Amino acid sequence: MILQEERELVVEYGIKMCELGLTSGTFGNVSVYNPDRGLMAICPSGMDYYRILPEDVVVLTPDGEKVDGTAKPSSEYDLHRIFYQMRPGITGVIHTHSIFATTCACMHWSIEPVHYNIAYSGHDVPCIPFVRPGTYELAQTVFDAMGDDRFACLLGNHGLLTVGADIAYALDVAEQIEYVAHLYYNTRLAGGGKNLAPEQVQPFVDAYPSYRKK
Ligand code: 13P
Ligand code: ZN
Repeated sequence: MILQEERELVVEYGIKMCELGLTSGTFGNVSVYNPDRGLMAICPSGMDYYRILPEDVVVLTPDGEKVDGTAKPSSEYDLHRIFYQMRPGITGVIHTHSIFATTCACMHWSIEPVHYNIAYSGHDVPCIPFVRPGTYELAQTVFDAMGDDRFACLLGNHGLLTVGADIAYALDVAEQIEYVAHLYYNTRLAGGGKNLAPEQVQPFVDAYPSYRKK
């Protein structure tokens, strides 16, 4: 089977995303890119994460052409492929509808650096306005908001998008940004937290990409 390893990773990380409570039902999506082959594996649209088999995972070119798989690819394939086309070094993308990140997104709150684990994204997590899900316009707006160094973005009235040098990092970003979103929400309700200064966050921005040891 073409791109077997990446297809298996998509199945594995879809389940991990559910087990971490980062999405609701069949929402959210996961993809893995193989830069040597120039191909990406993305979950099928609207399918129960616990029932997806590697052969249900769809293989696309970064231009969005289907190479293998009978299922319909995730409706957010533009949101994934734009990073494989435009950000060298990114090989994993995750989109979640996790509760606190999405709460902030529904408030149109960008997440401020109230906790140093904001560093999983950079110095903040920007929030874009609502753009219709499943459109290239959404992908382009998210991509522009993230620039060339952020790893996360809130999608207004919708959810969270994270990227990584591998899919494990993209999931770590999704988990930690959900945690910081929860803290940020609490601090705003309590009257506002104290933001860290850029130089207090920067060491962790530098360290986190190589922090996880399996
Ligand atoms: P898919 O089921 O097509 O991947 O869509 C889920 C989603 O979260 C849309 O934004
Ligand atoms: Zn979504």
